[in-house]
Amino acid sequence: MSPIPLRRNFIADSWVESSGPSLDVVNPATGQPVARIQDADQATVDEAVGAARAALPGWKGTNPHKRAVVLHDVGRAISEDVDKIAVEITREMGKPLDEARGEVRKLAEAFHFYAEETTRVFGYTIPNNQDGFLSIVEKEPIGVVGAITPWNYPVELIGWKLAASLGAGCTIVIKPSEYTPSSAVALFETLERAGVPTGVANLVLGAGEAGRGLVRHDDLDKIAFTGSTTTGTAIAHSTSVAIPLSMELGGSCPIIVAQSADMKGAVAGTLRRGYRNAGQICIAINRAYVHRDHYEDYVAQLGQAVGGLRVGDGLDDPTVDIGPVAIPEILERATQHVQDAVDKGGRLVTGGTACDVRDGNYFTPTVVADVTSEMLLGHAETFGPVVGVTPFDDLDEAIALANATQSGLAAYVYATSLEESLRLGKELDFGNVAVNNVDAGIMNAPYGGRKGSGYGSEHGKEGLEAYLHLKHLRIRYMR
Ligand code: ADP
Repeated sequence: MSPIPLRRNFIADSWVESSGPSLDVVNPATGQPVARIQDADQATVDEAVGAARAALPGWKGTNPHKRAVVLHDVGRAISEDVDKIAVEITREMGKPLDEARGEVRKLAEAFHFYAEETTRVFGYTIPNNQDGFLSIVEKEPIGVVGAITPWNYPVELIGWKLAASLGAGCTIVIKPSEYTPSSAVALFETLERAGVPTGVANLVLGAGEAGRGLVRHDDLDKIAFTGSTTTGTAIAHSTSVAIPLSMELGGSCPIIVAQSADMKGAVAGTLRRGYRNAGQICIAINRAYVHRDHYEDYVAQLGQAVGGLRVGDGLDDPTVDIGPVAIPEILERATQHVQDAVDKGGRLVTGGTACDVRDGNYFTPTVVADVTSEMLLGHAETFGPVVGVTPFDDLDEAIALANATQSGLAAYVYATSLEESLRLGKELDFGNVAVNNVDAGIMNAPYGGRKGSGYGSEHGKEGLEAYLHLKHLRIRYMR
């Protein structure tokens, strides 16, 4: 058996070890260790931030059209390395290989998108109240960015921050999740091959120690975080200087199936957005509110569709619908949420248990009906393959139920009547609302949460603006 590889940090074009404690990275499909990392110590974090700081003047001063060439080169290199990166995603995170390939392709798309956006950063002028003055507003790169990312989309969520910040002219230090370091390492090998200049993009591996060391660093100009609300809140309280933060946190996302809904579409939409990636998506559907006219029909159809999902090791069979959940914590939480619902009167329609496949973290895709707001399934984020279903009688009630959590990331609506779809679209208090589809996260539209789900946008031109700040330049050109 080959030895378990130690993954290293990428700092200023060198692959370096740190001296932090060693951590095993486990394949969730088998329970076997597949890599090791060290939880990077402060000296390693300092080195990475120092490299990003040293590279900033050169990259910031690079003509945006030249930066665009580099980003397009990265996008092309990623497309050539799809399988290499995807295998690492599946081995450490568990999503089926075909889905992992899709994630890598979307990452390449992000680089091409921000390559183009980088040449479209426009300032503006402001008329002055005195003659002979001109006010120019310019947009400049914020500086050195520290980015902390989670395991559920291990390269795509790095990519949104990396492509946008590099496009904006910033330099960056990224700390990926300790559960999924190898796909980040594979991505950085691709960046190296594509010719990203020295120190512009740096990778630091580790868990909380490395993460805390990075977010408390006093030489960062911005922190971009995607992860749990708990960690995001801790980060917001722990920066050593007051710098801009962007936070993409959790959500407990509702779908409303209105009286005028196309049922087939609603069931297919719930299946896709409730169970894809084993429900481990910030914008996954957790709660379904269904008009009473359709309720039993929807529960039966969804139960049947979910019961038919194929669960397995997505490296052995890239086409399975659902792999293992990434970490044991998700198994425990899914089990707890289902048990809590059943104890409080919920009806288990399908699934509900961990399944014993080769010591992997497998949870059977689950539907629970007759869920109430008091149940964990009715208000908390499961982040696993579980959807709770609740009937409603009128739209006011459905809107109130959907809005009654701290979650403000994404909501879904199925309704064919203009009145129902427009009203729901306007009254749902979420940063993304998808009507008669479940894919609001397109590359050229802003994506972000509100309330407890965070602030700041990724995707779209807004995703680039997040790494720019304004300068007002007031010039007197006539005496
Ligand atoms: P998730 O379970 O969704 O990955 P977490 O919030 O636990 O969410 O982790 C997201 C990222 O935050 C990971 O890279 C993790 O290592 C990092 N992290 C955890 N604790 C801290 C902390 N106190 N400060 C900075 N980063 C942290």
